[in-house]
Amino acid sequence: MTPDTTLHYTDDVRDKLAALGLWVLEETRGDYIGSDLSGGDIQDKAEALGLLARVEVKEPCSEEHCSCAGYYDSSEWPIQCLRYAFDRIEVSK
Ligand SMILES: [Zn+2]
Repeated sequence: MTPDTTLHYTDDVRDKLAALGLWVLEETRGDYIGSDLSGGDIQDKAEALGLLARVEVKEPCSEEHCSCAGYYDSSEWPIQCLRYAFDRIEVSK
């Protein structure tokens, strides 16, 4: 099935996504096969590059790409929701 839309990003966002991808490759290649790189490591790098940003929320948010409700216990709120810090532009083909 071919999607009828494609995602576009600004040049700045595309450069940061490329930098993140290169960093992941570099972190997973080395003197040994494999890596202990975790999702948290990747999120930290994405945050440092400005691709993700923390927003304090007092209850689970229902925004796209958020997993707050499934990740945090109700006693932990408010929490810092880690969200995409850029817009994705969907363009019809
Ligand atoms: Zn959230």
